[in-house]
Parts: sequence; C-alpha cells; structure tokens
Amino acid sequence: MSQDTSQSFPRQQQEPPGLTGDMQPLPDHGEDSYQGSGRLEGRKALITGGDSGIGRAVAIAYAREGADVAFTYLADEKADADETSAQLERAGRAYVAIEADLRDRETCDRVVADAVQQLGGLDILVNNAGYQMAREEGLEEITDETMDRVFKTNLYALFWLTRAAVPHLPRGSAIINNSSIQAFDPSSTLLDYAATKAAINNATVNLAGQLGEKGIRVNAVAPGPIWTPLQPATQPVEKVEQFGQDTPLGRAGQPAEVAPAFVFLASERDASYVSGTVLGVTGGKPVF
Ligand code: NAD
Ligand code: MG
Repeated sequence: MSQDTSQSFPRQQQEPPGLTGDMQPLPDHGEDSYQGSGRLEGRKALITGGDSGIGRAVAIAYAREGADVAFTYLADEKADADETSAQLERAGRAYVAIEADLRDRETCDRVVADAVQQLGGLDILVNNAGYQMAREEGLEEITDETMDRVFKTNLYALFWLTRAAVPHLPRGSAIINNSSIQAFDPSSTLLDYAATKAAINNATVNLAGQLGEKGIRVNAVAPGPIWTPLQPATQPVEKVEQFGQDTPLGRAGQPAEVAPAFVFLASERDASYVSGTVLGVTGGKPVF
C-alpha cells in the first residue's frame, strides 16, 4: 500500500455519526491489501463501532486472520454496517452485526450476551466505539448533554462491556481499548473527549493488573489522526482540510494502517506476554 504524502482533504462536513460513503476520498480499510496468516484462527471477537473507520478495518483484518466477528453499529449507520458485513462474508468467517447505542448498561449487557450466544463464546473484546465534538468555546460551553454523550460512549460503555464480557473470557483472551493521541497531547477543542482517552489509558493499565491472574491481557491502541467518518462529522471544515499535516509523517493515517496493531495485541502467537501497554499509531507523535 503506498500512501500519498502531500494530501489536503477536499472541503466536507457531515452530521454525526457520519457515513463512509459521503467521504472524499473514501478511507482505506485494507479491503484490497490486508493478507491474513492465521494469527487469530478459531478466535471469537466483539468489536464495537465496527461499521466504519478503524473498527471496520479491524473487523476485516480479524476475519482474514481467521476470527469470527460480532460488531456493533448505530441505527443511522446501517449502510456502513452492511458494507462491513459484506466484507466479513467475503472473508468466509461467521459474523454478527448488532445494532446498539451503547450509552446504557442494559444495552451493553445485551450486546455481550448476543455476541457470546451467536459466536458460541468470546475471547477478544475491542472497545472501539467513540464520540467527540470539537468546539472553539471553552469549558463553560460544554453542556451536560454533551458530557453525557462523550463520557457514556467512550468510558461508561467500556466499563459496562468489559464487566459483562469478563465472565465469558477464557485464559488467553485479550481486551483492546481504542485510546487516542489526545490522551497525551490534548487539544483544547476536545477537552471532554481527551479526558476520556486519558482515563481509558489509566483503566487499561489497571485492568491489566486485575485480570492478569485470569490469563486475560488488556492493552490499548492510541491512534493519531486517522481518516474516518468521525472527522468530517465532528471537526470544523478547515481542520478537516489540513487533517494530519501536523504529524512528523505529514499526513493522516488510514484505518488500514491502524488495524495491524489491533491484530498484534489480540494474537497469542505474537503478544502472549504483552499486557498493560498503550501502543501508539500516530504518524510520529509521542505517546508518553
Ligand atoms: P468512526 O466514526 O468510523 O467510528 C466510531 C464509531 O463509534 C461509529 O461508527 C459508531 O458506531 C460508534 N459509536 C459512536 N457513538 C456510539 C454510541 N452512542 N453507541 C454505540 N456506538 C457508538 O470513527 P473512528 O475514528 O474509526 O473511531 C473509532 C475509535 O477510534 C474511537 O474510539 C475514536 O475515539 C478513536 N480514535 C480515532 C481517531 C481518528 O483520528 N479517527 C484518533 C484517535 C482515536
Ligand atoms: Mg460509523
């Protein structure tokens, strides 16, 4: 896969959660490039927000590595979910698409129960779903409603899903959380979102300590700027045009460039002694 090194993105804006088909250019989820090598043969994975962006790239990679995959999507994202399902069908693995808004505990419990029942078990949980809304105004303009949406989607759901999943996870299982460069280098326009990502890093390390005795590894991936629907749906147009140019590599990353980190951390072949770490995929920005 070769990447354009000098790209500006065309002017574009969407309403959250955003759809892949309305993006220019279309993101690369590894559809034409990802080659599996049996790293996740026989594994059963639940990926939240697998309809689009990083979650879709992870779903495709996991299926091509031999895993059966359940993934969640929001009602407005049916078109994207159908495309992910088509990719999983093509990979020849069992898959389940679950419509779910994860902002309440009952739904998170149901999602885990559905995934376990339909996949016949679970040994990989990817807490990938996330929400942000950039704003120029300061703290005083963050409404309680916005805080609820950001904290419930990014943090509460992670706790609820993990709590529901752990009793089902056998030794050798892996939990992988989607963090962000924002945990290390927060933008003032993303005060609430950045705080959830820092909390996710902290919880990742802490859960790795708690779950180690059960043989469950817990890690996080911290992506830098990645070309997904989240960006045109939640960042100002001018920001989208310049997206990723402030990284050492000088460009945004594609979802396909993040998925291999999630494969590595899930794989018992490659990462059996890796737990409690946050792996940066940032185009060169530091994650410490
Ligand atoms: P995306 O829009 O493709 O995926 C985010 C997904 O989150 C959506 O598809 C949606 O299904 C899900 N989601 C949002 N609100 C939800 C809710 N209330 N209930 C259930 N699901 C909900 O964008 P993405 O960039 O691939 O985002 C995936 C993860 O990557 C997020 O956690 C995001 O914070 C993280 N991340 C993204 C970037 C980036 O630059 N794109 C950088 C760092 C971290
Ligand atoms: Mg989506």
